[in-house]
Amino acid sequence: MQILHRFAGSIQRYSEELSDPDRYRPDHCPQCEAHRPLRAHGFYTRTLVDIAFDGTIPIRRYLCCCCKRTVSLLPEFALPYLRFGIVVIALFLVARLLLGLTLKAAAEAAKLAVMPYQRGQFWVRRFRQQAEKLCAALAALIAPPVALDFTSRALQMLEAIGWIASHRFLFAELRVHLLGWPAFLAPAGRIAALPPTAPSA
Ligand SMILES: [Zn+2]
Repeated sequence: MQILHRFAGSIQRYSEELSDPDRYRPDHCPQCEAHRPLRAHGFYTRTLVDIAFDGTIPIRRYLCCCCKRTVSLLPEFALPYLRFGIVVIALFLVARLLLGLTLKAAAEAAKLAVMPYQRGQFWVRRFRQQAEKLCAALAALIAPPVALDFTSRALQMLEAIGWIASHRFLFAELRVHLLGWPAFLAPAGRIAALPPTAPSA
């Protein structure tokens, strides 16, 4: 299970802070609710493409000694199961769907040198599918603005609240994924049947 690492600095600072296992150690297990601190359980690496960053980052894992399940601490600039960081995806979606720019211009707005058509469509399709749910969830934080459709309304709400702050609320409080959970996961982002594959888009 992935939970949020409450860290809002640069990727470099993130990697430095990660060396201390106590710093963000969960004081209880989110899966079995055992009220015992979790044990540090190494790292895994994942790929991340963000503004001025394209590489792998370590993700710290903890183990619950009661239920024997692991919890990983995902930095809040990254989305579960997506290779691209929130800031990049946000810049692209706003440019493409709110400002109506072309794929090429939206990719430039998101500082992406290369943007395959399929990837852009994949983000757009998933965001559109998720927009109504985002509007409903974010209404807890801000009054929904008047907009033509759920997609525009959700984008305006995310821009007003801030994408990272919105993600923090959606993911930590509601287990809602900004772009919707992949099909192999149950609604709350837990594995339903198949094991997760590496981030691919
Ligand atoms: Zn547990």
